[in-house]
Amino acid sequence: MAVQVETYRERRPLWKAIGNGMACRCPSCGKGKLFRSYLKLNEACSNCGLDFTAARADDFPPYIAIFIVGHVLVGWMLHAEMSGPSDPMLYVWTMIPAAIILPLIMLPSIKGGVVGLQWATRMHGFDASRTDHDRHDS
Ligand SMILES: [Zn+2]
Repeated sequence: MAVQVETYRERRPLWKAIGNGMACRCPSCGKGKLFRSYLKLNEACSNCGLDFTAARADDFPPYIAIFIVGHVLVGWMLHAEMSGPSDPMLYVWTMIPAAIILPLIMLPSIKGGVVGLQWATRMHGFDASRTDHDRHDS
């Protein structure tokens, strides 16, 4: 029985892939559109044919968005509180809409970046050497 051992795999540029994803472009070629709607990925890249169904971003993009916006809002609240007495309605009229709108604005770019990260590191279905059986076991 012959055993094939893979000793070299082409290195994929991590930061370029994340940057292409954050621009909502294909992480591989940087030209094809990544999304067909707000957060729905295309089936494949229209330029290079990369299969996007292999991506599994799951809850990571919202986690990152909440992490970033939470830190921005806490800094904003601390600044408002330490600048002297402030109107409590300031929070209602500025920070609550910001807490809703900012993550929604960021989500497509963050999801694109996560897909770029997954492609560059050959996670999930982006590793052609893994079979479907391997993917479902892990
Ligand atoms: Zn492409």
